[in-house]
Amino acid sequence: MTKTILITGGSRGIGAATAIAAGSKGWNVVLTYLSDAKAAAQIVKKIEALGGRCCAVASDVSVEADVISVFKKCKETFGQLDGLVNNAGMLPEVARLEDFDLARWNKTFAVNTTGTFLCCRQAIHLMSPRHGGHGGSIVNVSSMAAVLGAAGEFIDYGASKGAVEALTVGLSKELGPDGIRVNGVRPGLIDTDIHKSAGDAARVERLAGGVPMGRAGTAAETAEAIVWLLSDAASYVTGTFISVSGGR
Ligand code: NAP
Repeated sequence: MTKTILITGGSRGIGAATAIAAGSKGWNVVLTYLSDAKAAAQIVKKIEALGGRCCAVASDVSVEADVISVFKKCKETFGQLDGLVNNAGMLPEVARLEDFDLARWNKTFAVNTTGTFLCCRQAIHLMSPRHGGHGGSIVNVSSMAAVLGAAGEFIDYGASKGAVEALTVGLSKELGPDGIRVNGVRPGLIDTDIHKSAGDAARVERLAGGVPMGRAGTAAETAEAIVWLLSDAASYVTGTFISVSGGR
């Protein structure tokens, strides 16, 4: 049966690479984005050119009504949901914790952590046999920052991803009996626009030499791990994390 996968933040970076990798496997893809409709449309086009089906929906993961509506659209378009990738995320500007204001802290948690909660909740309503579904796979995109702490850069970001990791472990246990696997991927330093959007365009170049493998990773390399966790090849894997970090 053709799988249907919903990927948040699928218009650029790791989410876009995951959407293309999922589309190449013949899976139906629903991708969401925040504001870059042009980038989202290009990914839809690429997947359609591969012979796949894809739709893009503007939906802010931190807004409950947006999240409810995109899962409704997924059900209406494809009739089911087999996989969710909680990928949408933001990186706040580099600063020390003593200089954070509360708005920054709250926004980071709203997008990275609350967004993951809202999407997991809606996915369960489509995937769980208790609600008429047939199981599935959830992949939460965390970060090495959850483990390393992001001192001097963005401790709030690391903490928001640490919360995502605790959610991943707890939910994997809660949903094991429903046939829903829940795992995480921890990207390290990956070459995407997120660093520029956090006001530090040179970050990847500056830090790449300190990665044990001597380079930054690519979005496509990260997508490989995400797609594997979504696939039936990972059928007995739940409650765990794959670091895609070049040894960082
Ligand atoms: P990116 O290139 O900046 O892309 C972010 C994507 O998320 C875009 O599609 C963007 O939509 C969407 N987005 C942003 N805020 C959103 C919101 N509130 N609601 C819905 N969509 C939203 O980021 P990336 O580097 O691929 O990062 C993807 C994930 O990997 C994030 O969770 C990030 O924390 C994690 N990660 C990245 C790295 C890295 O080095 N790149 C390392 C560790 C973890 P628009 O196109 O409309 O803006």
